[in-house]
Amino acid sequence: TVSVEHLVRRFGSGAERLTAVDDVSLTIGAGEVVALTGPSGSGKSTLLHLIGAIEQPDEGTVTVDGVDVTGLRRAGLARYRQRVGFVFQRYHLLPALTVLDNVLAPVLPRRGRADHLAQARDLIDAVGLAGRERALPAHLSGGQQQRVAIARALMGRPGLLLADEPTGNLDSTTGAQILDLLLGLRERHGLTILLATHEQAVAARCDRLVRLGDGRVVEDLDLTDGEDPADTYDRVARLRL
Ligand code: ATP
Ligand code: MG
Repeated sequence: TVSVEHLVRRFGSGAERLTAVDDVSLTIGAGEVVALTGPSGSGKSTLLHLIGAIEQPDEGTVTVDGVDVTGLRRAGLARYRQRVGFVFQRYHLLPALTVLDNVLAPVLPRRGRADHLAQARDLIDAVGLAGRERALPAHLSGGQQQRVAIARALMGRPGLLLADEPTGNLDSTTGAQILDLLLGLRERHGLTILLATHEQAVAARCDRLVRLGDGRVVEDLDLTDGEDPADTYDRVARLRL
């Protein structure tokens, strides 16, 4: 369970001061798949960074499985990072490393272990990049780099995946495949997923839709109420993401 309470993150000072995340409270249950939507600049990436403990809030707390992660340092922070997969909006692949080594990066000190290698290869397969293991990021398309970033985030079987527009640069078929993969992992491993997206087709397949506006939660919709998937799609389509 992820529990966000009265979270605030400000940037700048004086007249330039801006509240990117403005008193957000949110509880996400284990195994839930939540779409985080809202216009550009509404605070989606900032909220994901705060939950992933990549940035520190000015106020409020983030508690994951009972541990307050906003106060973590060193060993505690490292342990938390191992349990969380993060897909950045701008992939952040390591340019000097091959696809395989990028995917292995989260377990790097022990990259040679056979089970890690097997898992990395499975993930590369699952995101549709079989055969490109030895390629460098610069030789991949944007969508392919994004898929490497998704495989890397899933390495080590995290319990929580935070994904910033994971299908944003993919054609709709590949985007749907990535979503199939993520929803399959939720089924098999109980993965909890919070993903920022501008795409209605992606949001409509999630359990819940949380919409931000100016750093605040302006909508929190349950999409699992048993209606026809086509109706869910229509309902989400009426919202402007
Ligand atoms: P997009 O859909 O374009 O990715 P977003 O919803 O992810 O947008 P954020 O990136 O979280 O939005 O940004 C929220 C607000 O905080 C914006 O006004 C942005 O300019 C500001 N902001 C984000 N990061 C920083 C930073 N490091 N320094 C200053 N301002 C920042
Ligand atoms: Mg963003």
